[in-house]
Amino acid sequence: MTPLGEGADAPRSGFERIAGALTCRGVSLEEAAGEFGTPLYLYDAEGVAERVRRFQVTFREISFLPAYSVKANGSLAILNRIAALGAGADIVSQGELERALRAGFPPERIVFAGVGKGEEEMVAGLRAGIYAFHVESAGELDLLSRVARDEGRVAPVGLRVNPDVESPTPHAYTRTGHAASKFGIPVEEAEALYVERRNDPHLEFLGIDAHIGSQIMETEPYLRAFHVVLGMLDRLREGGIDLAYLDLGGGFGVGYDGEEGLDLEDLAREIVPPIRERGLQLILEPGRAVVGESGVLLTRVRYLKRAGVKTFVITDAGMTELIRPSHYEGFHRILPVRETEGAPRVIADVVGPICESGDFLARDREMSLPQPGELLAVKTAGAYGFTMASNYNARPRPAEVMVEGGEVHLIRRRETLDDLMRGEEIPHPREAPGPLKPSECP
Ligand SMILES: *Cc1c(COP(=O)(O)O)cnc(C)c1O
Repeated sequence: MTPLGEGADAPRSGFERIAGALTCRGVSLEEAAGEFGTPLYLYDAEGVAERVRRFQVTFREISFLPAYSVKANGSLAILNRIAALGAGADIVSQGELERALRAGFPPERIVFAGVGKGEEEMVAGLRAGIYAFHVESAGELDLLSRVARDEGRVAPVGLRVNPDVESPTPHAYTRTGHAASKFGIPVEEAEALYVERRNDPHLEFLGIDAHIGSQIMETEPYLRAFHVVLGMLDRLREGGIDLAYLDLGGGFGVGYDGEEGLDLEDLAREIVPPIRERGLQLILEPGRAVVGESGVLLTRVRYLKRAGVKTFVITDAGMTELIRPSHYEGFHRILPVRETEGAPRVIADVVGPICESGDFLARDREMSLPQPGELLAVKTAGAYGFTMASNYNARPRPAEVMVEGGEVHLIRRRETLDDLMRGEEIPHPREAPGPLKPSECP
């Protein structure tokens, strides 16, 4: 067995062990951590580009827009590289709209989802000239129509439908396509809305959207959702409502433990012919599948601690840097950046410095026992890593670097203590009393 089961995925990821030490496209992870400090997010730009191109190649026979889901990794540098490949963006807030535009995405390649869009967000999307709003309720459609009227514009719309399919995602929090989820509009209601609102002069119905969940490894739930949506499109077309695109959302699973991710070719084989036949445009909204495998979180071991039967490896990164293990029970491989000969195998919890019992990167993990000061790589951390990082426990968020052309580029500096307090004010600051005298002790 190779240490920690690593190795099987080396050729198809940009991360490779050379002479015992992990590298990214020839760049030493040890050197990157030495230069920029830890915790550190490191991304493989080439890997991200390869994955975008894989979507483009797989669906090249039809009109296709890969709309990268910005919430997976919204770093401007990463977004810029994705935009430069001709991809679009799937956004869920005005902040993401701003990020996408500043990174260089043309507005006509941006789609805007989200169950709770505010008026200001609608105005911003309309003024930017985005491709479509993915509307998730009748109430939202009313407001969007009114906002478009006030702006003297026509809002391009795709209704997000809830196709009511159970998607086997690893955690309930990432399931969105079943009837009890807050996302989307039930099929019948959505169909009625297209018909009732067809003559609203401030709305233009362009397509239909569905997004059934995240980290889905099988094509079957997509096919069920696809056929529900395709049936709607056909019925609406018969009724004279001709929609231009079908958006099947994102959620394409990646291999967190070295396994193959969702088989895109398999999906394409089934959905490309009916789309081509109807002359439709296909939109997909991959997030994780574009960036997940191309990122690692580098963290240094601070202490080892034994308590009863448990061994704790205490690292300088925790749930504030990567919340997936505690929030979604997400699994990440954790590898020593440099292999040490003869390190004992142990079962350990890898935990962070945050004052929460739920602060862990791995639990009951079989691993080589690392020593304090050793550098670890938390794999497959390119998606929902930094974007979900927080300042809890007043921790500055980590730096992010991108490996490209054999060099490491800083793409976001580590936050400073001043950053942590930016925007705060103390009204009429008061002074604390002087030091406590022994006589005043209670
Ligand atoms: C989060 C999200 C995605 C992307 O999901 P991944 O699992 O990262 O591919 C796509 N579309 C919508 C509407 C989303 O909310």
